[in-house]
Amino acid sequence: MNVTTNTRAQRMNFWEKLYLPEIAKGLALTFKTMFRPKLTRQYPEERWEPLGSYRGRPVLVLEEDGERCVACGLCSRVCPALAIEVQAAETDRDKERYPSKFEINMLRCIYCGLCEEVCPEEAIVMSKDYDIVFHSQEEAIFGKDKLLVPIARLQERLEFLRQYK
Ligand code: SF4
Ligand code: SF4
Repeated sequence: MNVTTNTRAQRMNFWEKLYLPEIAKGLALTFKTMFRPKLTRQYPEERWEPLGSYRGRPVLVLEEDGERCVACGLCSRVCPALAIEVQAAETDRDKERYPSKFEINMLRCIYCGLCEEVCPEEAIVMSKDYDIVFHSQEEAIFGKDKLLVPIARLQERLEFLRQYK
């Protein structure tokens, strides 16, 4: 150990041994950085608005006549984290079936997007929501009250899916 340290010290020239040029270089870099534009965001006052390609928490698409979901259960089957629970019920709407219960356990969700990929109706999509807070395991289970989002707020993601899915 000492042998290596001594060898390195011996290789240093006069200026390197003084350390002053290196300190000056460090200070110069500090001053240069001080005048660059600041990248720090004052969250939550300054919110970041992601693009349509962003994969935030999965949500259900809500149309004017109700949810798009037809409760086929594909998303639940494909979910690698077993986070989705769907219960189907009959309805007299054109779609015949709807989810009487739809829950996502957000403690399990890994934001993989497979549910969105497999859905034949584009009824579940990855939203822009990234600040998700809960204080207990029960609160982390999102039901339809939290999952249903009006289609107007999901246009960017739906457009992205139309182009790249
Ligand atoms: S994003 Fe992935 S982990 Fe989360 S609910 Fe969908 S399939 Fe499951
Ligand atoms: S969200 Fe899509 S895949 Fe999941 S149950 Fe509804 S229609 Fe089927």
